[in-house]
Amino acid sequence: MHELGIVIEVVKQVEQLAKENDVEKVTELTIEVGEVSGVVKEYFEDAFKWFIKKTEYMKECALKYITIQGISYCEDCKQTYPTTKYGKECPNCHSPHTYLVSGKEVMIKDIKVQNKQKEN
Ligand SMILES: [Zn+2]
Repeated sequence: MHELGIVIEVVKQVEQLAKENDVEKVTELTIEVGEVSGVVKEYFEDAFKWFIKKTEYMKECALKYITIQGISYCEDCKQTYPTTKYGKECPNCHSPHTYLVSGKEVMIKDIKVQNKQKEN
């Protein structure tokens, strides 16, 4: 289970951003996870819920989890295809000369925050 390591990395980045921008708290985090990244959504969500209890800004943060499709590109016929369906062999020309173009990343897509009340 490497989800916890990824959660810790992501949460650290968000906490850092929250601190730099001097916000009250982070209310929602949208994350994009590639379907061939090896991350299991349920594990990620569980690790997230557990880990944010230890944070300063993200204790009540909701998680929006978006799965990004794995896409491979074939160097021989110059076409793309869904990776999880066909693997490393191109379904158009059966070439093995393919590589992944998306679906392995874990990215912070959006963060919603609540700003501090300004004192006048
Ligand atoms: Zn091909």
